Amino acid sequence: MFVALVFTAGLCWTVSGQERWLTPASSQIDAIYPAVEALYIDLHKNPELGFQETQTAAKLAAHVKALGFDVATGVGKTGVVAVMKNGPGPTVMLRTEIDALPVEEKTGLAYASTIKSRNAAGEMVPVMHACGHDLHMAAWAGTARLMAENRARWHGTLVMVGQPAEEGGSGAPAMLKDGLFTRFPRPDYALSLHDDDTMPAGTIGYHPGLFRAMSDSITITLFGRGGHAAMPHNTIDPVVLGARVVLALQTIVSRENNPVEPIVITVGSIHGGTQANVIPDEVRLQVSVRTFTREVRDRTLAAIRRVAENEAAAAGAPRPPQIDVPAAIRNPVINDARLTLRLADALKKHLGAQNVIEMPAKMTSEDFAEYGVAGVPSALLHIGAVNPAKLAEARKTGVPVPAPHSPEWAPDLQTTLKAAIRAEVTELLELFGGQAP
Ligand SMILES: [Zn+2]
Ligand SMILES: [Zn+2]
Repeated sequence: MFVALVFTAGLCWTVSGQERWLTPASSQIDAIYPAVEALYIDLHKNPELGFQETQTAAKLAAHVKALGFDVATGVGKTGVVAVMKNGPGPTVMLRTEIDALPVEEKTGLAYASTIKSRNAAGEMVPVMHACGHDLHMAAWAGTARLMAENRARWHGTLVMVGQPAEEGGSGAPAMLKDGLFTRFPRPDYALSLHDDDTMPAGTIGYHPGLFRAMSDSITITLFGRGGHAAMPHNTIDPVVLGARVVLALQTIVSRENNPVEPIVITVGSIHGGTQANVIPDEVRLQVSVRTFTREVRDRTLAAIRRVAENEAAAAGAPRPPQIDVPAAIRNPVINDARLTLRLADALKKHLGAQNVIEMPAKMTSEDFAEYGVAGVPSALLHIGAVNPAKLAEARKTGVPVPAPHSPEWAPDLQTTLKAAIRAEVTELLELFGGQAP
């Protein structure tokens, strides 16, 4: 009996003679690429901060509406949900983030962003797609187009999600609270793809299980007694106190924490005083904390509090520090292991095994975690976005290439974008080819 499957140009014929679509042909991607790149450049030039992405959302909504999706906007404030019900089969969600960062672009690209806008605090800030969410959106749009134009060749329900405000972690919770999994078909699987500075352009990285960390942004205000710089004995200097706290916090990482349970404590901002001859009366530290488990997180936050309070006491501070721990990314991304390995297998088959590699976990954070916490098996994969020669040079010199959130972050566009579309469509077809769980 004839049982072999025949692969050609992304097609395969099963024993029944029925054609099954497994991956897009290169010619299919090439045909849509100019439009996808034009959308990328438009999005790159016109970035919007979290929960302000009205123009961005309108562009995505118009694109998927024209393809025949049922489209809802304003989900979780500025999110987009596009549904294509296409017969029996699983429901699969593909999510892109749509927000940008308050970063001044320094890529020198012809289409660099020059946008400035007001942040949530009302300050004017430069805005840039420094995390590559523009690339994710363009790939998402290309994937939607190929899925729509080839809808006779797959069955199931496709839910395309444009999620606002990923930076800071409030966009995914906002969409879930606004009924993402109740007003729209609840997905059997949730997928997303993020660009990455550690792999050559177009290489897919997967990591089953615990993949991305939790994130807390803590503000510590240390109080002293201000006065004349030449009469320090009459003051309690919060600058010296702040310097002690910065160093003491590092001993939580190096001396208190079990080294096999990674944590990061970074003091990213320190502010106090106005000029050299005045001792100020307070200093403010902003601290980023990354952890993988709730237990380690709670222990680390308690240690930070203990260090700050006791350093202040040792300095004779007039009152204890004020420590604010606002809402943050409170869940780690845990990639469903079975789903991740299944996708990795399909990707290896269609992108080549050398282009699909297991990658290490990262201490960066992602609110994509929320979809898994809501009970949907989820997989966040990464895609290398760096020119291979530049990456090889960086490995040789030890000087890293610019990474996401850098003002110089610029993906190796064509290779990355085409591979992202191929990977997303291949993942969707793998899942639509199976039974609904
Ligand atoms: Zn980011
Ligand atoms: Zn991002």
